[in-house]
Amino acid sequence: MHAVIVGGGIGGLAAAIGFGRAGWRVTVYERQPQLTAAGAGILLWPNAVHALGALGLGEEIRKNSVPGDGGVRRSDGTWLSRIRAADIEERLGVPAMTIHRATLHRALENALDPQTEVHTGTEVTTIPDEGDLIVVADGINSVLRRELAPQVAVRDSGQVAWRAIVPVDTVGQPGGETLGRGWRFGTAPVGHGQTYWYAAGPGPLRTTPSEDQLEELTKRFQNWHDPISALIAATRPGQLLHHQLADLDPVPPMAYGNRIALLGDAAHAMTPNLGQGAAQALEDAVTLVAEAGAQDGLARYDAARRPRAARYVRNSRRAGVVLNARGRVTSTLRDAILRATPHRVALANAVKTADWRPPTLPVAERP
Ligand SMILES: Cc1cc2nc3c(=O)[nH]c(=O)nc-3n(C[C@H](O)[C@H](O)[C@H](O)COP(=O)(O)OP(=O)(O)OC[C@H]3O[C@@H](n4cnc5c(N)ncnc54)[C@H](O)[C@@H]3O)c2cc1C
Repeated sequence: MHAVIVGGGIGGLAAAIGFGRAGWRVTVYERQPQLTAAGAGILLWPNAVHALGALGLGEEIRKNSVPGDGGVRRSDGTWLSRIRAADIEERLGVPAMTIHRATLHRALENALDPQTEVHTGTEVTTIPDEGDLIVVADGINSVLRRELAPQVAVRDSGQVAWRAIVPVDTVGQPGGETLGRGWRFGTAPVGHGQTYWYAAGPGPLRTTPSEDQLEELTKRFQNWHDPISALIAATRPGQLLHHQLADLDPVPPMAYGNRIALLGDAAHAMTPNLGQGAAQALEDAVTLVAEAGAQDGLARYDAARRPRAARYVRNSRRAGVVLNARGRVTSTLRDAILRATPHRVALANAVKTADWRPPTLPVAERP
């Protein structure tokens, strides 16, 4: 059996690893000249960690990521809600962890079967003729999805994000997210003396030089609690990433006959408010490897994945409305509700979001 995977992002590479382990011939086409990721961090909730574990990467990921206590604060630093990594670990077997995206990509690339053919610098613009299975994993602006499901629109959330990794050590300090009126700031240590930070605020996408954007952020967050200003100050303009935040509407069928499957952001890009985009792509990859190859396998993949992924897209969009509240009254009300929510309820919500266990995947005997 031959799987042709279009897109070498987190989802495409995870599928490539799984199919390679299952004994399939695997070909990956990636538009970029290299299999690399932008310099940012990524939060891996337990469902993501379990999916990576099913692909044989559990140890590698745990070794290279940093579990952290999280929660939500007000701009003066007052906690509205706190969640300890140990509480998540106790319920779901592993804590949520943050890792440098480049480290995750390297781990995925290194886990590819040596026989996997990777063609970088290759843009695919129509459904390939070769292969028993085509995995469409080319991200939110997927060209192939436009061909298969032209009804899907990329929906602008009205928010934009900035991200960077800076040489500031915050291990041992609580991370998490701080909420203001229409603006948010998040931090998490990623190890090796580095911290990942992100900020989100109202659009449009800035077209000014990064220096000017950093100045805007410096002013915007100057009165927020430590170490926010220090993290912005430690950011070199060339390290700053800036993106529009968008999702897909509606989530289309994820299977077309028994030969073509959509996977990851190509199928269900979501706003990052729940930190679940990559986790859902990884769940897709593992489920697809478990189901593909059997009669009706892709129909079962679609049935397992589409409703669940659509729920995350929806919940993420709703969470954005609350987290990005801009009005004085709405943001004060949001903070009061978060503060009044009992710890066990906040923890139960986090656990429900990240509660997923992978199926056992086929592993072929290698001669
Ligand atoms: C600001 C921000 C923060 C986020 N934070 C988190 C987080 O903390 N936790 C989390 O789980 N998720 C997070 N996400 C979501 C996560 O980044 C994505 O869901 C995930 O990267 C999707 O992976 P993917 O492989 O499906 O798509 P992508 O990562 O978009 O990969 C698609 C790949 O396909 C390639 N490609 C595109 N077109 C073609 C073509 N025509 N031919 C060949 N190759 C092509 C691209 O170059 C790319 O390598 C965040 C997203 C954003 C925007």
